[in-house]
Amino acid sequence: MSLYNMNVDKVINHINKKDYKTIGLQFPEGLKTQATSIAKKIEEETDATVIISGDPCFGACDVCDKKMEGMVDMIVHYAHTPLPLRYKVPVMFIEAYSNVKIKKVLDKTLELLEDSSKIALATTTQHLHLINEISDYLEDNGKEVVVGSSSRGTTKGQVLGCNFSSIKNLDAEVYLFIGTGNFHPVGIHLFTKAPVIAADPYTGEVREISDYADRILRIRFARITKAKAVNKWGILVSTKEGQYRMALAKEIKKSLEDEGMEAYIILVDMISPEILLPYMDLGGFVVTACPRIAIDDSAMYKKPVITPQELEIVTDKRKWEDYQLDEILFDERYKE
Ligand code: SF4
Repeated sequence: MSLYNMNVDKVINHINKKDYKTIGLQFPEGLKTQATSIAKKIEEETDATVIISGDPCFGACDVCDKKMEGMVDMIVHYAHTPLPLRYKVPVMFIEAYSNVKIKKVLDKTLELLEDSSKIALATTTQHLHLINEISDYLEDNGKEVVVGSSSRGTTKGQVLGCNFSSIKNLDAEVYLFIGTGNFHPVGIHLFTKAPVIAADPYTGEVREISDYADRILRIRFARITKAKAVNKWGILVSTKEGQYRMALAKEIKKSLEDEGMEAYIILVDMISPEILLPYMDLGGFVVTACPRIAIDDSAMYKKPVITPQELEIVTDKRKWEDYQLDEILFDERYKE
């Protein structure tokens, strides 16, 4: 059995119902290996020709609608929930829920949750369908469970790397994050200041995140300290629809120039160390695109690459004690 529910029958039924002739398929990196087998099934069971998007894709902020406009009747976008954006082509979002079993990892979390009675839950798209099962499990073990409601482009209990709205202002002693990686649990910890237990259903690993969060903060502090010496900046704007914040970039440029510094806006699709190589005359970069770039990819860049919030600390507009991750809240996005 596949690790994910790709819901191909639903896709095929929809294509046949609408009599679509050309379909775009888009997958995040981890699911691209399934692209050709899904394309084959669709082409066998419908009259449609499939075009697979081969570009990297990391979120619903990056649907290939602009590139495929006029080329396809519909795009099937896997593994992300829709964002409140206006897509240029009809898009069918298939969440690709994980088929992984959760019971073993929940048994392990109970030991770390022993002294806590009120638990808030958070997860990513792949495990959203398990929220009720996890709540029931914890309640059966004597815990009170809180799940944040849908807001600003996320659904109940869901966190994105650029949107932690669902976990803010909850009344809980501890947060339990179900999913893979460190970014989301670190984000929950930084926004709530509460203990966060991260439980990975794939590896079975369960851990408290605060030591790791401290390590990230130490790295961010070092980058910010280094950035204080910069007086010639690049401000990076991504053309990806859900990451595009040109008005914010212009605001940052103006504020840096007001402080007597030089600042240049650089528009790119995907930000990478190679893309920045021609701009090594600049001392540092502010990323207005995906907030994960500055944090996750930090070690890959020779110059300081920081978020707009971190720049506020560099320019003494924000105190280090008020450190926050950047968020792209889609209902109040900087856009022109
Ligand atoms: S901006 Fe970054 S964190 Fe937000 S949806 Fe896109 S890839 Fe994910």
